[in-house]
Amino acid sequence: MLSPMRNIFISFFVVISSFAQNQPLKALVGGTLIDGYGSTPIQNSVIIIEGEKIKAIGTVETLQVPDNAEVISTEGMTVLPGLWDMHVHTMITGHADYSYWDKTYPPLLEDVIMPASAEQLLMAGVTSARDLGGPLEESLAVRDRINNGDIPGATLYVSGPFLQKEPYPGTEDFRWGINGTDDARAKVKKLADAGVDCIKLVDQDQLTKDELKALVEEAHKHNLKVVAHGHRPEEIRMGLEAEVDCFEHTGLSSAPRYPDDVMEAIKERTAQMNLGPLFWCPTVEGLYNYEYVRDNGEHLDNTSWHRGLPDSVVVDIKESFKHKDQLPYFQLTPIRKPTLQTKIKQLMDAGVVLMIGTDSGIPMKFHSQSTWNELDVWVNEFGIDPMYAIRAATYWPSKWMGVENEVGTISEGKYADIIAVKGDVLRHIALLQNVDMVIKRGKRYK
Ligand SMILES: [Zn+2]
Repeated sequence: MLSPMRNIFISFFVVISSFAQNQPLKALVGGTLIDGYGSTPIQNSVIIIEGEKIKAIGTVETLQVPDNAEVISTEGMTVLPGLWDMHVHTMITGHADYSYWDKTYPPLLEDVIMPASAEQLLMAGVTSARDLGGPLEESLAVRDRINNGDIPGATLYVSGPFLQKEPYPGTEDFRWGINGTDDARAKVKKLADAGVDCIKLVDQDQLTKDELKALVEEAHKHNLKVVAHGHRPEEIRMGLEAEVDCFEHTGLSSAPRYPDDVMEAIKERTAQMNLGPLFWCPTVEGLYNYEYVRDNGEHLDNTSWHRGLPDSVVVDIKESFKHKDQLPYFQLTPIRKPTLQTKIKQLMDAGVVLMIGTDSGIPMKFHSQSTWNELDVWVNEFGIDPMYAIRAATYWPSKWMGVENEVGTISEGKYADIIAVKGDVLRHIALLQNVDMVIKRGKRYK
């Protein structure tokens, strides 16, 4: 007869082992694995996924595939961590007229537009995205529905509303004005209490230094990082002084390069390792590719960006860029184009860590197409090392978000956010435009 104690022990053991058995096992077998850490890829790799997590990694010689695992062949493919896009706008989907969009579509944002954007990202191999600027409740609701598994989509890290000196008229739902230091702290606290993942700041050169300092301090008090625009030299100067955590873009003007004093300030900052790396999303592809899109643009007819959108919205978006050459948004772009590579080079030479971000959702830039194009421009136009570009879309974003122990690399114990692409991505980065397999949290979506 068993003692009660032993009885309890046995039941406990049974529960544990049956739990383990109930977790479905998948095995990705044969492909070349880029794990996100930057070292030499592993050929003939084997990845065992148990439930949502990566259980073991090896090669066909070293790691045996369990009998009960579903075997998915990755022969002939590159296997890599699900991509991150650190600058998306799920509330817009390529329509060329913002003021029209902001008047017309708020009622559809939460249930249609933002979920469609998140699903399009996922199907493009983007398993995580930083959504920088949107109405608060809608942003949180969509993020949470994705995280609960109610709807498919990239895991979103949301800022909620932009913070800035004054919202542009008609944008008050997703742009909050800052008036004084108390107001700066109150607005940040309101966002923190609501549960946002970071703070998005624009036009910080229009704030007073005290307002900016209060805003960043309050964000850091709540463990929230601050993403700020780096368009104008004074935005960068003030942002560095206030210790914002990430800059975006490379300037709206045609100024050829960052001024010397700004570069000195950036180098002063990157030298301070106690503050961690200085991060920057240059978001160049939409600008770099504008003339090509204007003059060719067959890819605009690719239906990948229709996914999740009603026909009426698709027609409306198409109509908005009927005259691609006349869009006010892009008129200065050809003059800015040569400055992009210069500025990226300046930033890299100064020790800044670049991350992949695209501004996806801006006119003619669709969530289904933006991210791979950013990697393509970096590597094939600017000559950036492909492994650097991949790490800028995997390891570093997870590090910035503070979730590097959960995602961002393919390593044992982390969530299985994994994509696979036919061919050698390190040789031909543009292969990422056709991601063949997408797994997020162990579940296969493509
Ligand atoms: Zn943006």
